[in-house]
Amino acid sequence: MQSSDRVIVVGGGPVGYTAALLLAQQGIPFVLLEAGHVVFDEPRAGTVHPPTLELYASIGAIDRFLDRGFKVHNYQYYDRKQGLVADFDLGVLSELTPFPYRLMLEQHKICYIMQEMLAEFDNVDIRLDHELLEVSQTADGVIATVQTNDGIVTIDGSYIIGCDGGRSKVRKSMDVEFDGFTYPERFLILSTTYDFGQHGYAFTNYIADPEEWFALFKVPGADGSGLWRVVSPVDPNLPEEEIFADDAVQARIQRFRPRDTDYDIVHRNIYNVHQRVFGSYRDGRILLAGDAAHINNPLGGMGLNFGVHDVFNLIPRLISVLQGEAGEEVLDLYDRQRRTVAQEYLQRQTIENKNNIELQDPAEREA
Ligand SMILES: Cc1cc2nc3c(=O)[nH]c(=O)nc-3n(C[C@H](O)[C@H](O)[C@H](O)COP(=O)(O)OP(=O)(O)OC[C@H]3O[C@@H](n4cnc5c(N)ncnc54)[C@H](O)[C@@H]3O)c2cc1C
Repeated sequence: MQSSDRVIVVGGGPVGYTAALLLAQQGIPFVLLEAGHVVFDEPRAGTVHPPTLELYASIGAIDRFLDRGFKVHNYQYYDRKQGLVADFDLGVLSELTPFPYRLMLEQHKICYIMQEMLAEFDNVDIRLDHELLEVSQTADGVIATVQTNDGIVTIDGSYIIGCDGGRSKVRKSMDVEFDGFTYPERFLILSTTYDFGQHGYAFTNYIADPEEWFALFKVPGADGSGLWRVVSPVDPNLPEEEIFADDAVQARIQRFRPRDTDYDIVHRNIYNVHQRVFGSYRDGRILLAGDAAHINNPLGGMGLNFGVHDVFNLIPRLISVLQGEAGEEVLDLYDRQRRTVAQEYLQRQTIENKNNIELQDPAEREA
């Protein structure tokens, strides 16, 4: 292959790095363009589901995942006023999967694992501080216009995969609707070293309430000793300085579980929540995967997992096209399959998860 035959992957998040490793493992030249200087390590996704673990096992990554993550063997559903409602044992999946648990592992650590595995290959071309500005297509390739520290450059390739997240510039180069909606409220994540496990909480918990629901997760944290994340909805009219004020975050977490002393809050962040699926994952030689293609609320921890499944579906198809074994119609199948499951399952399930945790009607809540 010539240099212009390389695949351009845009975005060094978990989906982009996974795509890069899948290409490297099959000897396909690629360049990964990442706008940032380092892997973004703010608290975001942290749940890896069994089918995703199976995919990572298929590429030899599973030991690294299991070494660094926390296994969640059960998760709990609470009513905030009545207490524990259901305790789901994931062990019932043991005849269906070798990984009958969720693995809590922060998404930036997935990037680190992919980086470590990529380091074992020659000709890995990862360019940090390379922000894609726009993409154009020719008859037999794509041209990316990229901002670097030394100015604007163009980079050519055979295909481009936009794994550049919710604000994807690759997506914006396609003239298609990003259908869906944005919730009025934002979600606040508070991270604390306080051990909620001593009160009987599982590593994953959903605490339903019509006024102020909470979700509680335990992730490994920077040193692997464990950090609890408390997620809750925030009034859209409150300014950020009020939301982040020390007394406000203490009051919020005390409302969740009162105690005599302050909580040790080591991190706080807030984000907008959307439910959208892009109208097409393919426009000629431009392809989309991950949050660039679909975004959803985090209840159920599904967004990241879906993105990983996207590239496991896409990359073998793309390789078969590059190697002349299949026509481009297999890329349309990628679009049809992955967009359909995003519309019919990912969106439906995550919207339902959010509805369930904030149900107003007592009869529905009881059911
Ligand atoms: C604050 C927050 C909290 C979340 N919490 C959860 C959660 O608890 N559970 C869950 O399942 N999901 C959660 N999500 C969603 C989850 O993080 C995403 O589904 C996941 O990150 C998708 O991975 P990705 O690789 O597609 O995109 P991203 O992780 O967004 O990665 C995109 C990468 O592309 C780079 N990039 C962007 N634009 C360009 C450009 N023009 N040129 C080059 N590089 C570019 C970015 O720097 C970034 O590294 C959360 C999202 C946010 C924003």
